[in-house]
Amino acid sequence: VLELHGVHKLFGDNHVLKGVDLEVDEHEVVVVIGASGSGKSTLMRTINLIERVDDGRILLSGDDITDPAVDVDKVRARIGVVFQHFNLFPHMRVIDNVTLAARKVHGTPADVARDRAVGLLEKFGLGEKVEDYPDRLSGGQQQRVAIVRAILTDPELLLLDEITSALDPMLVGEVLDLVRDLKAQGSTMLMATHEMSFARSVADRIVFMHGGRPLEVGTPEQIFEDPQQPETREFLARIT
Ligand code: ATP
Ligand code: MG
Repeated sequence: VLELHGVHKLFGDNHVLKGVDLEVDEHEVVVVIGASGSGKSTLMRTINLIERVDDGRILLSGDDITDPAVDVDKVRARIGVVFQHFNLFPHMRVIDNVTLAARKVHGTPADVARDRAVGLLEKFGLGEKVEDYPDRLSGGQQQRVAIVRAILTDPELLLLDEITSALDPMLVGEVLDLVRDLKAQGSTMLMATHEMSFARSVADRIVFMHGGRPLEVGTPEQIFEDPQQPETREFLARIT
C-alpha cells in the first residue's frame, strides 16, 4: 500500500529524514518508535503531503504522490489521519465533524454518510454522543470520534501519530481498544507511539527511527526481546 524510497527532509540545515526506505503492506500495522525529535511525526507528515520531501519518492498503492504534479487533496482523501491533539471542529456536532470530509471531499450523499457514521459511532460506544458538541465529550471520546472520522471513507492507509499522548492515562485504553478493532478488521496502519506495550501488542512490524533513518526493523519479538543495534537497546532501556 505504501512505499518510501530514499526519503529526505530538511528543515533549514536540520537534516531530519536521511534517506528513509519503508514499506507498509496491505492489512499491515507498522509502528514507528524512537526518541523525541527522531523524525516520526515528520515522516507521517511527508506521507500526508503536509511536508514536501526534499528527495526520494513515496508511492501510495503504486502512485507516486511526491510527483509535483499530484493533486494533494486527492491524495489526502485516500489517507485517514489522526494526530495527537484532537482536531475536531468545536462548533460542529459529532455527526457533522465525522461526516464533513465524506460530504465535502468525497461527495457522499449526506444521508449515506450519516448512516455509516452513526453505525460506526454506535459500534465504538459513541452512539449517545452523535448530536453532542465535542466539548461535551471526554478526551478519549473525542479521540475515538477523530478515528471514526478518519475511517469513515475507507481510506487505503491510516496514519496515527501519538494519538494517546494527550490523554489522561485512564482514557488511553479505550482508544487503543479501538485501534485493535481496526487491526482486526484489516485496516492498514502506520502509527507512531510512545506506548511500548501497545506497540508490542498491535504491531506486525516495528520500525526504530534513529539518526534520521529506520535503524532497525523487525517483529515486536525481534525488537523488544532481541534488538540487534546498540542504539535500539539503549532506547528501550531508557523508556521501559
Ligand atoms: P516526538 O516523539 O517528540 O513526537 P518526533 O520523532 O515526532 O518527536 P519530529 O516532530 O518529526 O520528531 O521532529 C524531528 C525534528 O524536526 C526536530 O528536530 C524538529 O525540531 C524538527 N521539525 C519538525 N517539524 C518542523 C518544522 N515544521 N519546522 C522546523 N523544524 C521542524
Ligand atoms: Mg512526533
